[in-house]
Amino acid sequence: MIIPFENTFAQLPEQFYAKLPPQPVMAPKLIRINPELAKLMGIEADSLLTPEGINILAGVQVPDGAAPLAMAYGGHQFGNWVPQLGDGRAILLGEAIGHDGIRRDIQLKGSGRTPFSRSGDGRAALGPVLREYVVSEAMAALGLPTTRALAAVTTGENVLRDSVEPGAILTRVAQSHIRVGTFQYHYARQDEAAVKRLSDYVISRHYPELSKATNPYLALIKAVVARQASLVAQWMQIGFIHGVMNTDNCSVIGETIDFGPCAFMDTFHPGKVFSSIDHMGRYAWRNQPNIAQWNLAQFAQTLLPLLDEDDEKAVEKAQEALSTFNDQFSQDYYGGFGKKLGFMATQDDDPKFIEDTLELLTAHKVDFTLFFRHLTSDLENDNFTTLSALFSEPTAFLDWVASWKIRIAKEGMSTADRMATMQAVNPIFIPRNHRIEEMIQAALTGDYEPFERLLKILSLPFTSQPEHADYETPPKPDEIIHETFCGT
Ligand code: AMP
Ligand code: MG
Repeated sequence: MIIPFENTFAQLPEQFYAKLPPQPVMAPKLIRINPELAKLMGIEADSLLTPEGINILAGVQVPDGAAPLAMAYGGHQFGNWVPQLGDGRAILLGEAIGHDGIRRDIQLKGSGRTPFSRSGDGRAALGPVLREYVVSEAMAALGLPTTRALAAVTTGENVLRDSVEPGAILTRVAQSHIRVGTFQYHYARQDEAAVKRLSDYVISRHYPELSKATNPYLALIKAVVARQASLVAQWMQIGFIHGVMNTDNCSVIGETIDFGPCAFMDTFHPGKVFSSIDHMGRYAWRNQPNIAQWNLAQFAQTLLPLLDEDDEKAVEKAQEALSTFNDQFSQDYYGGFGKKLGFMATQDDDPKFIEDTLELLTAHKVDFTLFFRHLTSDLENDNFTTLSALFSEPTAFLDWVASWKIRIAKEGMSTADRMATMQAVNPIFIPRNHRIEEMIQAALTGDYEPFERLLKILSLPFTSQPEHADYETPPKPDEIIHETFCGT
C-alpha cells in the first residue's frame, strides 16, 4: 500500500460529504513531490514517483485504502451567505498518521467535477497550483500553521480561464479540511445532530483535551478563537494578506488554508489589498483581525444550541468566548512584533512604540521585510546606514533609532542574544509576488527551474544565502505586481 490510509471523516454520516472518486485525466505528468513531507507522513517518497504513484496523484487511480469523497460546506463569501459550496474541485482521499503522531488529510485539488461544482469545471490551472505549492511551503518554513503541498502534477488537459491554461492538480495536506463553513452548512439546515456530531469529531480529532471540559462546546469555541487570533497575528508579522478570508476558507484547526489571491507585502501599507475581487478592501492587511472575529462569530452561532438550553445564556456564553479574541490577539501581535524589534518581554509602552513604528514605515513607504531584517544586521554592526537607506527622510529615521535604542537598553541582554532572537523571527526570504509571477511564467513555457529554485530558497527563510541575494530585494518599479487573482 503506497499510503497507509485511515478514513475517519468518511465514517461520519452521509450528509457530511458526497462519496465519489476523482475524475481521471488524459496524460498525467509529475511536476514534483515533497519528499520531506512524504517522509513525515509515513509515505515512501519513491513510491509516489512510480507510474502508479503518479496516477494516484493525478486522480487516475484510486489508491488502496482510500475512501474518496467531496466534503460538504457552506460559507459567507465577502459577507454574503452561500448555503452550499463544498469541494467543487477537490477530493479527500483519506487520512494518514505521520511519524509525529499527527493525522493529516490528503486531498487532490483540481481533481474534477463533484456534486458541489456548481458551474465550475472542477479543475485547477497550473499557475495557481504552483503558487499554492510555493506559498504554503514557504509559510510552513516560516513556522506558521498552514496546509501543505505533498505533490503537483500536470493533467495533459487544458482549462479555460482568462485564457487557455494547462491543467494541474495539487495534493494538499491539512491537519483537516474542516472549516467554519462546514459547521455553517449543517447549522443552516437546522441539523443540530449533525453540528453536534461534527463538533464531537473535531474535539476528538483536534482538541482531545477539551472533552474533559465542563462544557466542551464552549471550550471548542475558545480554542478555535485562540488559534485564529494567533494565526492572524502571525500573518500580520510577516506581511501576509490572505485575500479571501471567507468563512469557508477559515479552518477550525487554525491553519492557513486556500492560497488564492494571497500575497506578501513589499512596501508596507496597512490598507494593502492584492485580490482583484476585493474591491472594498474587506480583507486588507489591517482588517484581518476584525474579519477573523466576524468569522468566529459565525462559528459560535452554529454552536449556540449546544452551549445552553436557555437561548439567552447560550448567547452570553458565546459572546464571552468570542471576547477572548482581543487578549489573545494583542498578546501575540504585540509580543510577536516586539520580538521582531528585539524586545524580550512586552512592556507597557510597547504597543504604542510598535504602532508608531508601523506608521513610520507607512509614511516612508518602506519595504516591510527589509526593514526588520536590516534592523537585525545593523544592530550587529552598530551602524544603521543600511536601514537608513530605506527611508526617504533620514531625520525621522534617526529619531526612531534613538528611541528604539532606549527601549532595548531597558532589557539587559547581550547583543548576540538579541540578534539571535531577531534573526529567528525576521525572515530574509519571503515569497515575493514578482518572483512567484516570474516562476509561473517560466513554468508555462515548460521551465520549472525557477519553481525549484524558489522552493529551495524559501525552505530556509531565515538563513543568509548570499548566492541568492537578488531574491531578498523588492521588485523594481516595472516588476511590481499590483493584483493577484482568485485562480479558480
Ligand atoms: P475558493 O475560491 O477556492 O475558496 O472556492 C470557493 C468555492 O468554489 C468552493 O466551493 C470551491 O470548491 C468552488 N470552486 C472553485 N473553483 C472551482 C472550479 N474550477 N470548479 C468547481 N468548483 C470550484
Ligand atoms: Mg476555499
